[in-house]
Amino acid sequence: MTDTTPRVRFAPSPTGLLHVGNARTALYNWLFARRVGGTFILRIEDTDLERSEARYETQLIKDLRWLGLDWDEGPGLAAGEPEMGSFGPYRQSKRLAIYAEHTERLLAEGNAYRCFCTTEELEVERARAVAEHGPQVYSGRCRALQSAEIEKNLAAGKPFSVRLKIGTEPLRFHDLVHGPVEFAAEAVSDPILVRSATSISAGVPVYNYVVTIDDALMQITHVIRGDDHISNTPRQVAIYQAFGWKVPEFAHLSTILGADRERLSKRHGATSISTFRKMGYLPEALVNYLALLGWGAEDGKTETFTLEELTRAFSLERVTPSPAIFDFDKLNWLNRHYLKECNTDRVLALSLPFFLNEVPQLHLTKEGLVAGSRHSEWFERLIQLLLPYVDHLDQLPVKAAPIFAFDPASARANEENAAILAVGSARTVLTELAARVRVHSGPVTPEVFKGWMKEIKAATGVKGEELFHPVRIALTGAHSGPVFDKLIPLIEDGATLGLGILGICDRIERFAGV
Ligand code: GLU
Repeated sequence: MTDTTPRVRFAPSPTGLLHVGNARTALYNWLFARRVGGTFILRIEDTDLERSEARYETQLIKDLRWLGLDWDEGPGLAAGEPEMGSFGPYRQSKRLAIYAEHTERLLAEGNAYRCFCTTEELEVERARAVAEHGPQVYSGRCRALQSAEIEKNLAAGKPFSVRLKIGTEPLRFHDLVHGPVEFAAEAVSDPILVRSATSISAGVPVYNYVVTIDDALMQITHVIRGDDHISNTPRQVAIYQAFGWKVPEFAHLSTILGADRERLSKRHGATSISTFRKMGYLPEALVNYLALLGWGAEDGKTETFTLEELTRAFSLERVTPSPAIFDFDKLNWLNRHYLKECNTDRVLALSLPFFLNEVPQLHLTKEGLVAGSRHSEWFERLIQLLLPYVDHLDQLPVKAAPIFAFDPASARANEENAAILAVGSARTVLTELAARVRVHSGPVTPEVFKGWMKEIKAATGVKGEELFHPVRIALTGAHSGPVFDKLIPLIEDGATLGLGILGICDRIERFAGV
């Protein structure tokens, strides 16, 4: 490896679902690596054994792959596949011996020490600091223990934690997003590296410690992660220094907020990648949106980017330190953009599952509709008709509901509809229409329908919205929606195909109470 080939990593803890914040971190790491021909590593930080779960790791891998992200080193690209790369293992739970070995080294070189202070003693120290309005940091009492005393404590089986000796120099690092950052050494005090136990190997190493060892041994050149880790970084810098390792570059990405400027949470809506997938967002829309959460194109205006285009355009220099606001409207706009671009087969395959339990008339199975059948052609037309009216695909069944479940009573009950229908001309128009329906035999083609509307317009003098809105309510239960030219044949054909839906004539008759 040379200095010019960056190595970056995404290091999630498998303690929950992958949410937008972490997905953006993964994406920025991936884009940065791909742009410069570097290496992107996935490392699973599963040292918190109580909270880590295999199912979250499996889901994480699935979610990253769904977003179109792959990695050069780390667990296999699908769950259960062997690890890739020569810097492994890539799961922290498999690296405990490495951490213990490094702890021995720090102790031997005098850069760390055993701390035998009990929880109660530390609590007394802390309470005193609070009372004296002093900084609540460890006093460093055990730094001064003589080896005879240490031996005596160890022989007595006294548990100890391992602490790092912090010097007096400020702890500095360079952040590609925030510029130079500096923390006073006193504010860091002597941090615990390994939690209290009666031996080094039994003690649990803490996040700051293991992350630094892993980053150093995996030769990470740029640490790109959320800015909630800025305050951890001085401790990590001190650990690099204690080992004599080169400190990498850092890039801390801003927090993602909801529209109310509070930290984005479930309260604001969907936040996990799998939820967005289940709602029928396209991965290319989500990836595009995530890229824009804290980064902007050089021209200041381009907003639609494929992953490939992002790879060419992305740079950490253009990442902003100010918080990013998650804008669901913009995400929806992008999703609509990509839905429009999406090829029909893919849209159909993605849409089908949403109709499985929603629309019994279609008799759908998991395998879907038989390709090429008249039903499948009809379904394709239905989806194409409704697609421009949805933000994400799970909204399709609701949009399709008036076609499948024609219900004059609830159409009348809707307040907006009621106001339209209350106008005298509405009743006239519907009566005229019903009269034509009564004497009509055979299907209602768009031409037949257009002919009726023209006649009614001429006969009643009603035109525009006043003419069309009541009719639309009578046919679909809503005064707006797809154009009649496409809607009419869809309803007619659905009825003749035996899809259990009512044809145009039936709808008008039932609605107008003919
Ligand atoms: N496991 C940590 C997290 O998920 C990783 C932080 C880091 O990238 O250093 O927040």
